[in-house]
Amino acid sequence: MVTVDCHAHLDFPEFGSELDAIIDRASFAGVRAIITAGTDVRSSEACIRIAEKHPFVYATVGIHPHDASKADEAAFATLESLCHHPKVKAIGEIGLDYHYDKSPREVQKQVFSRLLTIAKTQNLPVVIHGRSADAEALAMVQEAGISKAFFHCFTGPIEVGHAIVRAGYFIGATGIITFNDPSNANLIKQFPIANLLTETDAPFLSPKPFRGKRNEPCHIAVITDKLSQIFGMAPPLLKIQLMNNAIRFFDLPEVAELQ
Ligand SMILES: [Zn+2]
Repeated sequence: MVTVDCHAHLDFPEFGSELDAIIDRASFAGVRAIITAGTDVRSSEACIRIAEKHPFVYATVGIHPHDASKADEAAFATLESLCHHPKVKAIGEIGLDYHYDKSPREVQKQVFSRLLTIAKTQNLPVVIHGRSADAEALAMVQEAGISKAFFHCFTGPIEVGHAIVRAGYFIGATGIITFNDPSNANLIKQFPIANLLTETDAPFLSPKPFRGKRNEPCHIAVITDKLSQIFGMAPPLLKIQLMNNAIRFFDLPEVAELQ
């Protein structure tokens, strides 16, 4: 059965020389698209190079809130020019992180706002990181007039999740739903399947039984199997729905033809 990994970091050093084998393994496991997310200009360019090499890999370009302090006018200009690449499907990973606060909050907000403006101008969806700042990130996305947004690795609060759904945006289900602590699985269960996207966030967040090891896109199957348990829905039906969500969100008609 076919699946999509809507958020991974294939350019990260954890994959190194094994990357081609990892992408092949995902293909054999039925993964029909992997979206690799840029975290700064260099990472975005690296993601595009990987997408150029592998037909079913796509890229997003952005500046992670951790790296907001590094952003300058040249970075914004480069990212905007990268949007014209045919394999670039969204602006991301962008947002706010008030948990680690690796960049000052005012700087995070300024950079996020600029990147939302680029997304709006280029008519691209956005992939949002909103750790401990989801409500504020949502407000900024809505204020920017963005029509398609994906709140990646969503862990609450639930009221913000409901607001994301009301806005017609998407929530990311990761390997956290497989953990022994059922709180994330119980949270994700509250949202309609029509608003969910599946993601590994590889090399991070390995699902059970791979916890503590490097994560990789072929593990998306563990996440979709868990979702089928949570929602009490037959895996084939659920996977088609989740795949269609990803195809619509990232505009991947060529993946639809592979189904
Ligand atoms: Zn990420």
